[in-house]
Amino acid sequence: MGLFSKEACTFCGKEVGIMHRSKLKTKEFICSDCRNKTNPFARMDYTTRDAAQKMMEQLPQDAEWLQSELKRLEAERTSRFVVQDDRDYDLGSKRVNYKCVHALGVFQLYYSSLSHYQYSPVLYFDRILPYQFESDMDSTFFADSRRAEIMDKDAEFVKVNVSKDAEGKITSCEVVIPYQDNCIHEIKISDNVDSEEQCRPFYDLAAQINKDRRICIEQYMDDILRKERMQVRNLGDTAAAAVKAAVTGGDVQEAVKQGVETASDIEEGKVKQGFFGKLFKKK
Ligand SMILES: [Zn+2]
Repeated sequence: MGLFSKEACTFCGKEVGIMHRSKLKTKEFICSDCRNKTNPFARMDYTTRDAAQKMMEQLPQDAEWLQSELKRLEAERTSRFVVQDDRDYDLGSKRVNYKCVHALGVFQLYYSSLSHYQYSPVLYFDRILPYQFESDMDSTFFADSRRAEIMDKDAEFVKVNVSKDAEGKITSCEVVIPYQDNCIHEIKISDNVDSEEQCRPFYDLAAQINKDRRICIEQYMDDILRKERMQVRNLGDTAAAAVKAAVTGGDVQEAVKQGVETASDIEEGKVKQGFFGKLFKKK
């Protein structure tokens, strides 16, 4: 192997030189074209071949899911509700677009240096926490063991780092979002800046993400309470229907079956099951 040798991409088989490939954690090579179908925030040296493959399948599905959920939310809510929050931040020379949907617990970050990637990935507020290795097998157990961190609504996990030179002059600034994903670990957006003033938008974005995370947790708790109230009411309705069926010689089993169906409809909800969902899953 030399600097000029070509290697085959493990996904598409294309032979590519060193400038157009990355090495995966599992030592295979991935070409730039295939990499552009993965998550722009993933580091290839953290990513196994299987994980890269899964990302390529998951990203388009996530994008489609987000679009259909946004349509559903727009249709359900009156216009005075802001379904999607959308803001731009000038982080040094980067104009970063930040979108979030509280009702879905998701956000997106986009700026022009990511434009060669096919998808702006759907990111989850319940995954903003200091990274720990998570095996594919035990994500419910994992969520449970980190419940206190995941549900800590006052935690300000998103931070800003400012770098200075030997004379104490500001040289660069970065937003750091810790992220619970084996392929990502943390999302960093950094750029050169030369004054406190230019660091301000970095702090603004970090504060906004921390705030939106808190709103999502509060909303999730509300949703759980609302579902519980609905279940209690459904239980009463089902019992009443069953008693009525018994008294009038109707179909008791059918009345109970309908109650059970309603109960699972209530549980299903629409929020994609992330850590928030796992924490409250009925045993
Ligand atoms: Zn390839």
